[in-house]
Amino acid sequence: MTARIDSLALTRELLRYNTINPPGMERACARHLGGMLEAAGFRVAYHEFAEHRTSLIAEIGGTEGKAPLCFTGHIDTVPLGSAPWTKEAFAGETDGDRIYGRGSTDMKSGIAAFVVAAIELAPQLARGPGLVLVITASEEVGCEGARYLADRGLLKRAGAIVVAEPTANYPYVGHKGLCWFEVETRGVTAHGSMPEVGDNAILKMARVIGQLEHFHFPVESHAVMGKPTMNLGTIHGGLNTNSVPDRTTITLDVRTVPGIDHVHLCHSLEALLGPHGGHVKKIVDTPPLYTEPEEEWVQQVFEDCATFLGERPAPRTITFSTDGADLKRGFGGPPAVILGPGEPTAAHQTDEWCSLDRLDQSVDLFRTLMLRWHGNEGRTPFPTSARRSA
Ligand SMILES: [Zn+2]
Repeated sequence: MTARIDSLALTRELLRYNTINPPGMERACARHLGGMLEAAGFRVAYHEFAEHRTSLIAEIGGTEGKAPLCFTGHIDTVPLGSAPWTKEAFAGETDGDRIYGRGSTDMKSGIAAFVVAAIELAPQLARGPGLVLVITASEEVGCEGARYLADRGLLKRAGAIVVAEPTANYPYVGHKGLCWFEVETRGVTAHGSMPEVGDNAILKMARVIGQLEHFHFPVESHAVMGKPTMNLGTIHGGLNTNSVPDRTTITLDVRTVPGIDHVHLCHSLEALLGPHGGHVKKIVDTPPLYTEPEEEWVQQVFEDCATFLGERPAPRTITFSTDGADLKRGFGGPPAVILGPGEPTAAHQTDEWCSLDRLDQSVDLFRTLMLRWHGNEGRTPFPTSARRSA
């Protein structure tokens, strides 16, 4: 028999672990969650892509036929930023409807919500298709933990995925892909008084940048996500005014939609920029995540969310990217939604916060999704929300 745990208390416990990435250091936080889940009857496995960089996979139940439902979240957080905080960043301070702290919205509240729901329902879930929780390290720096699990075949079965990133409990059907490039031009340095002796890498880069205007995506637009985009984000070149620069780099942030293959994208940039001296290197690669809104399970999730939102959700995608893309690949392509209690506008901000009502709602919502997957159509009476609003 496990003691009843509270989503607010667990969020607070998770906030006390400093998992700012870099360096991340997720091990202690992962072990804490793993210990709780193990005590509730889950089979827990830890996987480290580097020392102290711990992800965990916790499973319960399982049948030959239907694959388990997956919930996922990342333990790491972004740094605090340079602006001073008016709230404690690691204490889980509450004020009215809000809990504050780095990771409160993105996304320790989301992890707390599905872990609390999973532990409460563990005895029931043990006797059905089951549940798999994938709690990852280092999402904030290129989805390193999730990619490690997917690339090594450590993800076995999942029939559907809930990515509990901050969406204020609104279900989203995907996000764009992320493909970042560094382009380098090389030259030969010389004294600034004799430019004809050198080979100017900045002038070369100017021609390369000019070529970007001739770049066209193979896909114009996506029905739900809209257009793919490219942003020229940085440029670095030159040592001082009186030298010919021998190296210049730019970085490009490309946001892709389904139908754009990242390998092909890289090749077409090489073909365009290579002849002008641009050496192209891919530095970040996260594929787009998308599930057709008409998919049966997605429709069911929309219906369950409607109860909480007071309206039936419309098919939408979010602006940020998630571990979901790598996990979907690792699990062989099941449907996925992004759905969690965090406040999207507060993510990565000073004085980050999460609404306590939304946190309670998400425990109820996740419990509903788990029971429905388990084959139990009976809606639970949503005791958590009822308790706090009473
Ligand atoms: Zn996140």
